[in-house]
Formats: sequence, C-alpha cells, structure tokens
Amino acid sequence: MCGIVGYIGTDLAFPFVLKGLKRLEYRGYDSSGMAFLNKNQIDITKSVGKISQLEDLMLSKTHTSKIGIGHTRWATHGEPSDRNAHPFYSNSKKLAIIHNGIIENYAIIKKELQNKGFQFESDTDTEVLINFIENIQQENQVSLEKSLRIALQKIRGAYCILIISVDHPDTIFAARKGSPLVIGIGNNTHYIASDASPIVEFTKEVIYVNDYQIAIIKSDELILKNLGNETITPQITKLDLEITSIDKGIYDDFMLKEIEEQPFTVFDCLRGRLDFKNCNIKLSGVEEFEQQFKQTQKITIIACGTSWHAGIYGKYIIETFCRIPVEVDYASEYRYRNPIIKKGDILIPISQSGETADTLTAIEAAKKDGALIFGIINVAGSSIARICHAGIYTHSGVEIGVASTKAYTGQLTALVLFTLKLALIKESISKQQILEVIDHLQILPTQIQKIIDQKDQLKSMAEKIYAAPNMLYLGRGFNFPTALEGALKMKEVTYIHAEGYPAAEMKHGPIALVNENLPVVFIAPKDNYLEKLYSNIQEINARKGKIIIIANEQDTNALQYTNEVFYIPNSHEILNPILSIIPLQLLSYFVGKLKHLDVDKPRNLAKSVTVE
Ligand code: GLU
Repeated sequence: MCGIVGYIGTDLAFPFVLKGLKRLEYRGYDSSGMAFLNKNQIDITKSVGKISQLEDLMLSKTHTSKIGIGHTRWATHGEPSDRNAHPFYSNSKKLAIIHNGIIENYAIIKKELQNKGFQFESDTDTEVLINFIENIQQENQVSLEKSLRIALQKIRGAYCILIISVDHPDTIFAARKGSPLVIGIGNNTHYIASDASPIVEFTKEVIYVNDYQIAIIKSDELILKNLGNETITPQITKLDLEITSIDKGIYDDFMLKEIEEQPFTVFDCLRGRLDFKNCNIKLSGVEEFEQQFKQTQKITIIACGTSWHAGIYGKYIIETFCRIPVEVDYASEYRYRNPIIKKGDILIPISQSGETADTLTAIEAAKKDGALIFGIINVAGSSIARICHAGIYTHSGVEIGVASTKAYTGQLTALVLFTLKLALIKESISKQQILEVIDHLQILPTQIQKIIDQKDQLKSMAEKIYAAPNMLYLGRGFNFPTALEGALKMKEVTYIHAEGYPAAEMKHGPIALVNENLPVVFIAPKDNYLEKLYSNIQEINARKGKIIIIANEQDTNALQYTNEVFYIPNSHEILNPILSIIPLQLLSYFVGKLKHLDVDKPRNLAKSVTVE
C-alpha cells in the first residue's frame, strides 16, 4: 500500500524516480509526488490522480538534481487531494518526507506541535511526523539523525519513510517498521524502493531493511543502524527477478497477462515438487519440521482478501485428507481477538505480497505463544517470508494487477502440495489416493491453457451481463471458496455488487435478490455435491434467475437450465477449484473492459496492504 522510491547517485534522479513510481503504481494511485534537492532548497511537485498527471507537470521542468524521492499514495489520513499528497515539507522547508504507513498517535503530537506554533497544510499523519522530527531537532539542538531516532522511539504505528534535508545535500535518511523497504546497490548509486520492481532494471544486489532500522544513504556509502544507534552490517541479497516479468509485453493490461500466465505459474509451483515414482511430495520446509507436523493437533490459517478464500479451500482439503482441525481467520480479526494458540499448533499465514500488515502482526503474536509458523507466500524475501519458521513459495512471479489472479491459483496449488505432504506424514490416506491427485496435478497446466483458449466464449457471456447491478455466485464444498473469489473478482474490477455464498445457504437470505435480472453463477464441477447443487440450480431456475454454470466437460445436465454453460476439463475433485476460478477471472476481466474500467487499478484498492 503506497509506493516509495528514492535515488542518490551519479545520474539525474528524476528518470529513476518517475519510472519507479510507474512500477509501483499498483501499490496506490490516488495521488503522487516527488521532491528533489536543488542548491540549498527542496523542490516538491505533487498532484492528485494517477502518475501520468504528475508526469505531465514534471516534464515541463528542468532536472538537475542527483538526489530525489517519490511517492504514490493510498490515502489513510485525509482525502486524496493535491494538499494531502506526499512529499511534505517541514515548517522550515529544510526537510521533506514521504511515508508509507500510519502514525497512530499523530493527533496528540499534532496538538502539541500546534500549541508550539507549527502550521499544517494537510490532514495527514505524515506531515505531523516530519514536523515532530524538526521540533526535536530544534529544541534539543541535535543532529537530524538523532532527532529521527528520538522521534521513531516515540511514535506508534507503521512506517517506511524517506527524508531529504537541505543541510545534508548528500544523504537520504530512511527508516522502517512494518512497511517494506529495499535498497539497491549500484555503482556509486543507491536505488531505494518499497519493493524490488523499480530496482531490478539497474542492479540485482539489494538490501532488505528490517524493522526498527535506520539507513543513512549516500551515493557511495550505506550505514545501517538500529534505533539504539548501533551499527548493523547490511546483508546483501541477490534478486531473483527478471525485468520482463514486470512489463506488460504484448498485453494491454496486467490482469489479462497474469490470467494467461497461469499455465506457467501453476507449473512453476509444481516444478521439482512431485515425485510420482516414490509417491512423495518434496517440500523441504515440511520435512524440516516433520515431527511437529506429525504431532500437531490444530492448524490455523490466517489471511486477508483473496488469500483468505485460499485459506477456506485449505481448510476443506486439509480436513478431508489429513483429519486435522483447521481454523481460518481474517488476520485483522485474529490479531485482536485474543485467539487460543498453544505450543505445537501450526499457524499458516497466506499472503501474496508477504507484507500484509495485519498478517505480520498476527504472526508475531502466535510465534510468541509457541506456534510453528509455516508461510504460503509469493514474494521471496518479503517481511512475512522472513519471519516464518518454514514455508512454501508459490512461485507465481510478480503480480501487478491489483485484483489477484495467478497468485490465487498459486496458493491453491501450494495448499494441495502441503496437504498431500501432510497426509503422507500422517498416513491419513492411502498412497493410491495420493498418486491419483499427483496424476491430475501434472496435467493441470495444460488444462488451464485449454480454458484460456476458449476465452471468447466468456467474452460473449460478459456482453450479456455487464449491465447488471448485482450478481450472485454459488458453489458447495471445495468450490464454496471459488464462489467467494469469483464474486470478489467481479466486485473488484467491475464495481458490480456480487455476493459469493454456499449454494444451499442462499435460501437463508440471498434468494430474496433473485429475479429475471439477476445473473447467478453456479460453480458445478463433478464432485460429491453435484446432485445437491442441481437442486439449488432448480430453486434459482424456479425464480427465473439468469443462470450461468461452470460445469465439467460432458455434463449435459447443465444445458437443461441455461445456454450459458462454460465447460472446464475433468479433474480430481479437490483440484476443480484451480480450474473453475479461471473462467470467473476472465468473466470479470471482460465485464470490466466492457465497462471501460481500469482493470489493473480498481477504484480505492491497492495491492499490498501494508496499513491496518
Ligand atoms: N498515512 C499516510 C497518508 O495518509 C500514508 C498512507 C500511505 O501509505 O500511502 O498519507
């Protein structure tokens, strides 16, 4: 949530800052701004709206500075506006700041500063922080670095900040707690960003700054310290990221590109992990803690948004195959509701970005209580990945479309692998049953490709429903989460109000919405629930809902109720959800395009939710 970039080096700062903001635009896009140090003054330009609006303002200017910072905002405090866009000056105009996060005790600090005569131009918590730092510096006559340390010890909340100062024309000050910060090391140059995507084009050597660390960054020097002023040796990591993975290539939108990448990303998640010959699943993270997995009495999955839907799927398959009770919680609820966690319990955080603030805090609490933390994460090296005891990377590649697609199927695939491995350890199902799933897993990528090849049919379906104000998605069992995720995709990218429900449960409320104008999507592949689901289809049919069915090939039953049937290849029943979500992603995509919406950057959303 919110993107931060900074440059200090031998070239002009503006090109990197602009390009970096474009790369990070998926993290927030209600306003943006930049600040550059030019001969004893800081020049700030900012604008509400997308980065292209800021770019128009910047292109008419002359650029000479070799040190600059930039921000793309996802508003938390104060409406999206020019006034509330970052960067912010301090009152003396000697400092400028950009910030990702929330300063929770900003209101009280603001009052104190106002009493001392400080003026504020915005409604943000960020402007309070920079003036708080300035005030400490002025009152105590200490260095900027020391006042930064003092301020950070007094504030509560989450932050990644970059500060430039007229008095330190060769330095960018950076700090983080709870929001990500990566520094790329170039030739007498440092590239700073919220994630590695702006940096990879210039260098593959990076440092991930940890919580409660301050970085004092010059073009040819980088000093890392903790808040106690002790120097820390930076750990250099080699980036495993290719520039092609963050470009649209031949596509108009990242969303379609990422949907169509799924045959490859699911393959990448499976790669090297299936051992048909020995009936084994190779997951070193589980093997390392085999005894704990064998003995555990309870698993809790925590996640947010799309990942939470993957979590529900995880519960269904783990309980079916491994006979261990699984709870699924929203990370934001879990962290505050005093959950019961005992030594020996397993906590599985699921997160695409590995930076979700609520999930991070929830993990820290469970870790203290003695849980084993086993992450299912996409972004290697992310904050969550680094605090887990072990885990599985989904290997879905960089996901830039704000509405998650390939990361979701990656999470489902990783959950299947995890479940099979656990079932092997627990000996809870037969080898034959495991081999059957492995058999079907191997052909999943080809089957996903087959669905994508039929996408024109979904385009025609989209034409029939795109004007609907509401939609209903219904599924049962393993495909109940598919109903939730299908509805979420439709909401996110088309602004159609869509609800996902267990198909039988719709009688207890949502059925009241059904009339001849309501599209109702049934996810109906062959499984143990199919007969029951057809009763629910009858119930909607009797009330004249516009039925759409996602069915398995050869299920001619579906055509009795509607002409709008999309067929997916036959698979193992636990793998159906990995296939059935693909047409629903495509349907949302086509509806969004028909409504001329920016499917990559839906209104009010941001990709990586690094604030509570
Ligand atoms: N809290 C700050 C604001 O509202 C930063 C939000 C962000 O992370 O973009 O401006």
